[in-house]
Amino acid sequence: MSFLSHAEIVIKALNAYYQESLSREKRVINQVPLEKLVTDMELAEHIRTGELSEDSLSRFLNTYLSSTTRLHHPAFLAHQVAPPHYAGALGSLVDGFTNNGMVVYEMGPGATTIEYFLINWLLEKIGWQPAPLKIKKDEGQTFGGGALTHGGSLANLTAMIAARTRITPNVWQDGNPNDLALLAPAECHYSIARATGILGIGHNSLYKLDVDDRGVVIPDRLLSKYKMMENDGKRAVALVANACSTGVGLYDPLQEIGEFCREKNLWFHVDGAHGASALLSDRHKNLLKGIELADSLTWDAHKMMRTPTLCAALLVRDHQSLDNAFEQEASYLLHEKERPGFDFIHRTVECTKAGLGLKLFFVLAALGEKGLTEYIDRQFELTMEAYEYIRQTPDFECPVEPQSNILCFRIKEDTDEMQLALRDKLTAKGDFYLSSAVFKDKRYLRLAFMNPNTSLDDIKKLISEVREVRSEK
Ligand SMILES: *Cc1c(COP(=O)(O)O)cnc(C)c1O
Repeated sequence: MSFLSHAEIVIKALNAYYQESLSREKRVINQVPLEKLVTDMELAEHIRTGELSEDSLSRFLNTYLSSTTRLHHPAFLAHQVAPPHYAGALGSLVDGFTNNGMVVYEMGPGATTIEYFLINWLLEKIGWQPAPLKIKKDEGQTFGGGALTHGGSLANLTAMIAARTRITPNVWQDGNPNDLALLAPAECHYSIARATGILGIGHNSLYKLDVDDRGVVIPDRLLSKYKMMENDGKRAVALVANACSTGVGLYDPLQEIGEFCREKNLWFHVDGAHGASALLSDRHKNLLKGIELADSLTWDAHKMMRTPTLCAALLVRDHQSLDNAFEQEASYLLHEKERPGFDFIHRTVECTKAGLGLKLFFVLAALGEKGLTEYIDRQFELTMEAYEYIRQTPDFECPVEPQSNILCFRIKEDTDEMQLALRDKLTAKGDFYLSSAVFKDKRYLRLAFMNPNTSLDDIKKLISEVREVRSEK
């Protein structure tokens, strides 16, 4: 038993797994009951013997891999999780092996440097000033900042923490005053509503911005909602907009919202967990016009950047707004010192933090920025083609024209329960894996075009399988 021989078994198994997913030889989803998997994977037996032999490793991998939901399968259309490029997975391996919990520079100079570099790369895409490689203390320079976080939900929470510190500088000593509120679209991600709970702002103080029939924020109605909040005696910690929304993948008008926030001196947070990657595309970055007016942006790499989970970024226009976010500092780690690098500890909820940047960096190193741009353009265009196709079928309907790579549709005649029952049948069959979403009080089937090997042909087959499954009453 050795690292090399074990690793060879793992890599070969993953390679076969990838090939049989890509060729559709195996099903995209295969829901084996939990109690059966406990037995099949011989979990207790492995722990009892503690001898990972080449045989038992191969056996385990075989069972484990056959129980996975296959993101590399072209019929994976369900969730906004990247079918990762293999190079990103190698980044995960390097990070897991070296285990440089890099929240302070001395625990991972290489990982910290990559994170610092990638944050600057992302800042440039937004049009914000990247940070100098050597920060001199207290010179009040203005430039952007950020941190990689374990997911977009945590990035959103961190943004809200920073925004709250700006409006209530003594909050860490005194606790919340009782007049804090948050403005966010009715269609915002649930992590935003959760953040109001976690921060003690309270769901009752979440003012939902008015949206049109596509679920997109109406700029002309911002002022009346803002006044309603003021009349209730509240102050907004921040105003949040979607780029794009989770349900149907549409972008809020950032330019108009940003101008409103400037006028009212409101912290403007853009939740671009899924859709900020359009900034990498000359063809689609217009969807985020006005993004530079924001104060903070959440941007996941594990969604539209072919990067394995988890790797998300919280970016801020002014680094100081994030540097001041966590008032309580771990003084034993943060003493004044002449430092060769940079410590991310004062910018994150996490204490020990994985070298998240390695995963994204490996993908970029393998595909180049150009490769990601092509991927994003392809997925967005395929979604439009699928929309045109589904729209022209007489028995299906779509609630909105897509702007990104998310597409909802339903069978016109059927009830919400019937759409859900259809999805259950498709999942049980395992040829296609899609999700569902409620939009404007109606249940839809939902496709997220994440896989670079999905084609329009797959969608045509999906539609005919939906019809077939529906007729098998
Ligand atoms: C996916 C998503 C999130 C949550 O990000 P995680 O990385 O899954 O925590 C937040 N907001 C939007 C708009 C999203 O699409």
